[in-house]
Amino acid sequence: MTSDILDVSGVDVTFGGIRALSDVSLSVPERKITAVIGPNGAGKTTLFNVISGFYKANSGSVTFAGADLLSQPAHTRSANGISRTFQNIALFPGMTVAENIKLGAHAQLRTGLFTAGLYLGPAAREERELEQRMDETVIELLGLEDSRDSSVSGLPYGTQKRIELARALISAPRLLMLDEPFAGLPTTEKATMAAQIRKVVDERGVTVLLIDHDMESIMGMSDQVVVLNFGEVIAAGAPAEVQANPAVIEAYLGAE
Ligand code: ATP
Repeated sequence: MTSDILDVSGVDVTFGGIRALSDVSLSVPERKITAVIGPNGAGKTTLFNVISGFYKANSGSVTFAGADLLSQPAHTRSANGISRTFQNIALFPGMTVAENIKLGAHAQLRTGLFTAGLYLGPAAREERELEQRMDETVIELLGLEDSRDSSVSGLPYGTQKRIELARALISAPRLLMLDEPFAGLPTTEKATMAAQIRKVVDERGVTVLLIDHDMESIMGMSDQVVVLNFGEVIAAGAPAEVQANPAVIEAYLGAE
């Protein structure tokens, strides 16, 4: 039986007079892929920002692994098992693939110490554990062996997207939030990305919550699809069910 690892309940977010999220509730089952879709401006990024702590909710609650999330600062959320990628890739081009991935661990695992001014760099044992985790868990899983020690600049966009995924995975999150993992990828690489995200779930037991506009990829890979429109959840369920929902069809046709 699958239980829910994340529960969003009655979340409202307003920016000035604009209501970006209105009474949003959704449940994310553990070790599954949940996709959040919706037309531009529907509130998808706002929802991600509330879950990861960049935006405050005006009301409602978010529970992660049974603990209240909204009262925790953003850095505690990452240290407690939530990791995310962003819409635009921000890798360090002069550094190698391995160095870029490692930064994900230092930033996410150590943020609490960074903010307290106590971070002195990784201890040797931690560094060794990190190297091992990187090779076994991330580089191997995502097929980045050949480019491990290459400089990131000049690598194809699809590889850069995979490095970004690796960087979010290195902190061994329980919940991985992916912001538009398929954006900008050629069709052939979309299938690779979808297969790798599925591997992260099936082989590492990670729960994935993602946002994207690529319907074909999403409908082919997700266990659950949640549809936002004008800040409200208008449908949630299995891909086939959501695709056939008249309110969803209307929202997308109306947006064209
Ligand atoms: P897209 O698919 O285009 O990325 P989205 O579904 O992610 O869109 P959001 O970016 O969450 O939508 O935006 C939802 C609404 O909230 C929009 O009306 C947007 O203009 C507004 N909004 C989002 N962030 C802010 C902000 N920081 N300040 C003011 N308004 C904002």
